[in-house]
Amino acid sequence: MLAARIVGALRAIVGDDAVIARPSEVKVYECDGYTLEKSAPEVVVLPRSTDEVVRIVRLLHAEDLAFVPRGAGTGLSGGCLPINAPVMIGTSRMNRIVELDCDNRRAVVEAGVINLSVTNAVRDRGLCYAPDPSSQQACTIGGNVAENSGGPHTLKYGVTTNHVLGVELVLPSGEVVQLGGAVEDIPGYDLTGLVVGAEGTFGIVTQVILRLVRQPEACKTLLAVFDSVDDATAAVSGIIAAGMIPAAMEMMDQVIVAAVEAAFHAGFPTDAGAVLLIELDGLEAGLDPQMQRAVEICRTTRSRVVRVAADNVERAALWRSRKRAFGAVGRLAPNYCTQDGVVPRTKLPEIMRRITAIGQRHQLRIGNVFHAGDGNIHPILLFDERNADEVRRVLDAGAEILAACVELGGSITGEHGIGIEKIAQMPLLFSPADLLVMSQLRQVFDPERHCNPGKIFPTPGSCVETRRPHRQAAA
Ligand SMILES: Cc1cc2nc3c(=O)[nH]c(=O)nc-3n(C[C@H](O)[C@H](O)[C@H](O)COP(=O)(O)OP(=O)(O)OC[C@H]3O[C@@H](n4cnc5c(N)ncnc54)[C@H](O)[C@@H]3O)c2cc1C
Repeated sequence: MLAARIVGALRAIVGDDAVIARPSEVKVYECDGYTLEKSAPEVVVLPRSTDEVVRIVRLLHAEDLAFVPRGAGTGLSGGCLPINAPVMIGTSRMNRIVELDCDNRRAVVEAGVINLSVTNAVRDRGLCYAPDPSSQQACTIGGNVAENSGGPHTLKYGVTTNHVLGVELVLPSGEVVQLGGAVEDIPGYDLTGLVVGAEGTFGIVTQVILRLVRQPEACKTLLAVFDSVDDATAAVSGIIAAGMIPAAMEMMDQVIVAAVEAAFHAGFPTDAGAVLLIELDGLEAGLDPQMQRAVEICRTTRSRVVRVAADNVERAALWRSRKRAFGAVGRLAPNYCTQDGVVPRTKLPEIMRRITAIGQRHQLRIGNVFHAGDGNIHPILLFDERNADEVRRVLDAGAEILAACVELGGSITGEHGIGIEKIAQMPLLFSPADLLVMSQLRQVFDPERHCNPGKIFPTPGSCVETRRPHRQAAA
């Protein structure tokens, strides 16, 4: 139990209205988008500036207390769940765009700025911030940096690390460091690159220097409907083999298409085995011939309907439906768990067969959304958290899916991070020596392991079963 003296000291730093300590109120912060495990912090502090973050962290350091950073809580691997960390530091009030330098295509933003707000702020200047997670209306830049988030358009434009030039980081000692900077190619070790994807285990990111890119001159979106995922995957491979780099190639299987159509009425046929959204962008002049080629490839791979969006309104409707696919799943079951794995693109049909078999073996309904161009799969396991046996089966099936991804030459996460969810799977990819090196690297930034403890690294002998009793399971 956190001493009243410490809660009082936190109030003195940020003010009464920025400290949440009532048990009924901290419960709101007991999980992120991964709802299978829950654990509420004792106190949530909502600083407004780097200076307040520094004073909070110094106080916690002096008291030998651990803390967990939190952005919007949309993470899907339990990254901001407090594990042996009584204090949560939320960045939602640090939401200022500090500087826009459109001429040099840079933006300096506080960590709590919402992803989409950056593009909204520079749209009129013909610019945008390229990484576009489907959660972009809610998730924060600080969370994106921690998870190295991607999105539908990362096939062409890359992930967060390709768009972050520098960060301001408050180390767990309370010291502020500036890493990277506004110019390209700063000599020395790429410490900014280390912080991006560190899942908040190196310190709290308070400001970020972002790269802005020009909005493409023209965009065209194609909807292709297939009877099977195999055929849709053949189209994806065919398009890439033809030398095109679409801005996005997103696939949804039948379960998801039916849910999305019921929710948003974008005109997806609900009996389709798979639906592919392909977006091409670039100079207006070259786009039509490329789109024609993509249409031909889809037809060759047995697409039964190929439709190019007639205008921006139709294009926006298609994307709205895709980006809200997770929300639409709420119609199918009281709860769902979104898995995140990667396989080589050519293995998409094989992983789909395995997922279907795993679902059948565990008597679970599973829908699939993919960033197909990257081989990044998102199986969505449907369940009811009031059914403890079903919860157990979801955890087991999720672990089997990730093991299958690794077996097929892939990875246990494409963009959602390890968090707490995938700790047990780390040894599938990394040897004890690999893990030791990573842990030693973390030690450089956070020798006392005060910042977001209990994440990423398995403790010796740990596995999912030994982990579960330490936290309150959702069931
Ligand atoms: C509907 C839905 C769709 C999604 N689609 C995508 C997608 O397309 N692509 C994708 O990559 N992800 C996606 N996600 C996952 C999630 O939105 C991203 O991981 C996002 O970057 C998390 O941001 P957040 O602000 O919510 O962070 P949080 O969930 O609050 O935190 C995530 C991690 O970041 C750490 N953290 C947060 N802020 C800071 C900070 N300032 N400094 C240091 N560490 C910090 C936390 O400790 C935690 O470990 C989706 C999630 C949902 C719910």
